[in-house]
Amino acid sequence: MTFRTRYTGLIANYRDRLPVSENTRLISLGEGNTPLIKLENIPDLLNKKVDLYVKYEGLNPTGSFKDRGMTMAVTKAVEDGAKAIICASTGNTSASAAAYAARAGITAFVLIPDGKIAQGKLAQAMMEGAVILQIKGNFDDGMRLVKEVAEHAPVTIVNSINPYRLQGQKTAAFEIVEELGRAPDFHCLPVGNAGNITAHWIGYSEYACSVGDKVTESCAYCDGDCKFAKEAIVNSRPKMVGYQADGSAPFMRGEMVDNPETVATAIRIGHPQSWDYAWKVKEESGGWFDECSDEEILAAQKLLAEKEGIFCEPASATSLAGAMRDINSGKITEGSCVVCTLTGHGLKDPDTAIKQSTGPVIKVDAELEQVKAAILDNLS
Ligand SMILES: *Cc1c(COP(=O)(O)O)cnc(C)c1O
Repeated sequence: MTFRTRYTGLIANYRDRLPVSENTRLISLGEGNTPLIKLENIPDLLNKKVDLYVKYEGLNPTGSFKDRGMTMAVTKAVEDGAKAIICASTGNTSASAAAYAARAGITAFVLIPDGKIAQGKLAQAMMEGAVILQIKGNFDDGMRLVKEVAEHAPVTIVNSINPYRLQGQKTAAFEIVEELGRAPDFHCLPVGNAGNITAHWIGYSEYACSVGDKVTESCAYCDGDCKFAKEAIVNSRPKMVGYQADGSAPFMRGEMVDNPETVATAIRIGHPQSWDYAWKVKEESGGWFDECSDEEILAAQKLLAEKEGIFCEPASATSLAGAMRDINSGKITEGSCVVCTLTGHGLKDPDTAIKQSTGPVIKVDAELEQVKAAILDNLS
């Protein structure tokens, strides 16, 4: 047999399309290379002919896509001599920053909102030795403070305003194109800061452009002129579709939202940092923004777990909730190839899952007859 080579993360895998040199020390935990799973039962339920895939980013090392950006941001911070990184976070960025800082042997400072952070994410940041500042405010307050304090202290910001983050995150689009042998027709994502939708567009654009092409104005790193362009690999790009929670939907309101609220804490963001870029993504791709209620988001999370066996966190299910609605209405046309990004793992937020779960938990004595009776009662 031929042995496989050990996968060592997305920078090593896409070295020639990322801003690293031969001598760069890579800070990696083997992120990327996540499964693209074709849904088998949900399209039947919808009674629509679509090829519907989910990109299960919850299977990254710290359980969210943030690792794709963080390996790149921390690698560059260390290369530039940084001794500390800082971020504001609704949870997943802090868990990822803490892990990569630990790996690199530097300090991570994370600002998290008081209260509204899922237990799993807090546990990660604590175990991984981050210095946690729990602020009396929301993510947007944290982001403002991070920008201010970085001007007065020797810390590198690793939020998605750091352009290396999106460079790392663009690799998810590469993986999708390589596995499908084409670009999908639609790519659906949950939108908070709108960094990830922008990063995916950069990745798709890079694979569809040749040297010298003017491709996307949404890339802070390349500014229209792709620095990593080679020969075009595909000749199309997907329509990018961004879904927000309706209590936290600045892209639907057309302006910033001051007190965002949603059960999907990872996208509880009223002042998106990639605002201008995301509007360009929508325009250039011919896609759209829409919003989902918390009820729709939780229903999609549960449906995905019950019908496909895939457990994602609430924010992640926003992409599927929106996609299902648009497939039903025909806005996403039959015959299309659709990819939904599942941004984070369901275990991140066990409290929300248990609270909404109606699954049978039957209390029985430790005794054969009762166990047998319970089984016979519940055979479907
Ligand atoms: C960060 C995050 C998002 C939002 O991504 P943006 O790049 O901020 O739009 C969505 N879902 C999960 C689970 C996240 O951690």
